Amino acid sequence: MLFPGLSSLFIEEIVAAGPALRITARSAAISAPCPRCGTESRRVHAWHARRLTDLPVGGRPAAIDLRIRRLRCTDVKCPQRTFREQIPALAGRYSRRTLRLAAHDRARRDRSGRTSRRRPAGHARRDGLPVEPAARTDGATTTGRPDTAGAQRRRRRAAPRAPLHDDGD
Ligand SMILES: [Zn+2]
Repeated sequence: MLFPGLSSLFIEEIVAAGPALRITARSAAISAPCPRCGTESRRVHAWHARRLTDLPVGGRPAAIDLRIRRLRCTDVKCPQRTFREQIPALAGRYSRRTLRLAAHDRARRDRSGRTSRRRPAGHARRDGLPVEPAARTDGATTTGRPDTAGAQRRRRRAAPRAPLHDDGD
């Protein structure tokens, strides 16, 4: 399947807009429950447009142009006359991005959080050994007294970051 995780959608069109992909889609569900009384309705009152940023597809940024129905509640006693259908498997009620993009961003933030906890502040100073000016490859200043702690901090900072660039997006 081209878009795993989007099975709650009926995809109508995919167009390339420059480097980006625009996916026009609507809910695959025939009916949706009224948020007030739970009565399933398929009576369309109006259509709305909603854009969600999604995970990149093959390295290309992707956005979903969602066509959302405003449905009429069919229970005459219900004070909720009309309601917008929600696609909970796809995105939160007011979110501008898909759940899977939000989860992806969260995972990425957690990874960088772990990286910073691995190099606590002051650690370089405690076990810092003098660095010979000739051994420096980081462009640190060679005038005056050696900036030992600073140079080590810079090296420590550079090393754990490298794998984060291999995410492929
Ligand atoms: Zn209702």
